[in-house]
Amino acid sequence: MSLRPGDTLGILGGGQLGRMLAMAAHRLGLRAHVFAQQADEPAVQVTNQATLAPFDDPAALDRFAAVTDVVTLEFENVPLETVRRLATQVPVRPGADVLAVAQDRLEEKRFADGLGIATAPHVALDGPTDLDRCRELRFPARLKTRRLGYDGHGQRRVLAAGDVERAWIELGRAPAIVETEVVFRRELSVIVARRPAGALVILPLAENRHADGILVETVAPASATEALVDDARGLARRLAFGLDLEGLLAVELFETTDGALLLNELAPRPHNSGHWTLDACWPDQFELAVRAAADWPLPQPHATARARMVNLLGADAERWPVWLERSDAHLHLYGKLEQRPGRKMGHVTVVDEG
Ligand code: AMP
Repeated sequence: MSLRPGDTLGILGGGQLGRMLAMAAHRLGLRAHVFAQQADEPAVQVTNQATLAPFDDPAALDRFAAVTDVVTLEFENVPLETVRRLATQVPVRPGADVLAVAQDRLEEKRFADGLGIATAPHVALDGPTDLDRCRELRFPARLKTRRLGYDGHGQRRVLAAGDVERAWIELGRAPAIVETEVVFRRELSVIVARRPAGALVILPLAENRHADGILVETVAPASATEALVDDARGLARRLAFGLDLEGLLAVELFETTDGALLLNELAPRPHNSGHWTLDACWPDQFELAVRAAADWPLPQPHATARARMVNLLGADAERWPVWLERSDAHLHLYGKLEQRPGRKMGHVTVVDEG
């Protein structure tokens, strides 16, 4: 099923990623219908079609399915049942099988392992009897809930095996993994878009800096040897084929000090580290996400400039007038009404810097 101009793309989730997806859909002559919880969410502000309901409201989901031609998502923690219910009525791209892997850190690692893709050494922590197995790991390590973690939430740093239990209790004894802290040279990410019949394209490699688990800054295209770029692209390709991806997938990587790549995390949606593409790459990640969901041709992306994307977290957004003064800065604000420390309020892309 491929879309035609005038058709309606459904977007699950009302955040900034949904907002930028909706804007890309509109530019290509599609309508965007957002499924969100509240009328003031960033994506709802830019559309005139929205279903406002919880993700587990079956009647609302059926109404949404009836008025959309293809559904995509901006948020991977949508309940699987929601996606499965929609998928009986309308194509959902990426679909429930991709989501099932990307929602669960242990499934993600098992899947990578099956494809021969390396991840950080880890053990599953499903119950108290698993605590002993943590002694097999090198510490410091990260305790992470299997599900619902993002931007450093659901995550604790643990210095020794004996500290795992306390950290796990703090996280509510949720099913979790414990993984050795990687000594990395840097963090990288690569985004792949794939059409339902299998054609795929890959965006240039990005280099990311995080603080307290939150992305702070992306520089792209990353300076990297051809071999490293090939490795990252190969990995993205294998994951996209292995998952039978329809839509967009972001792949977060660690580059170790000896130049190997380890998979950190998958996100089956546009990704913060791809925002630079709006101003310095064509097609950008949102256009690719829309095209892939619509089953339209995917042009080979090419960077038009070197870019540095800076997230505006919490009070950073108050400096918007300063960014507006700069001719090399593209300011993006998400229309969020409430500012909180660490909340992603917007971003700036500085192009062709130094
Ligand atoms: P995550 O939610 O798993 O992507 O973690 C957020 C950030 O925490 C990552 O981007 C890293 O900066 C850091 N981090 C997570 N896991 C590890 C690890 N095993 N070793 C080192 N740093 C990590």
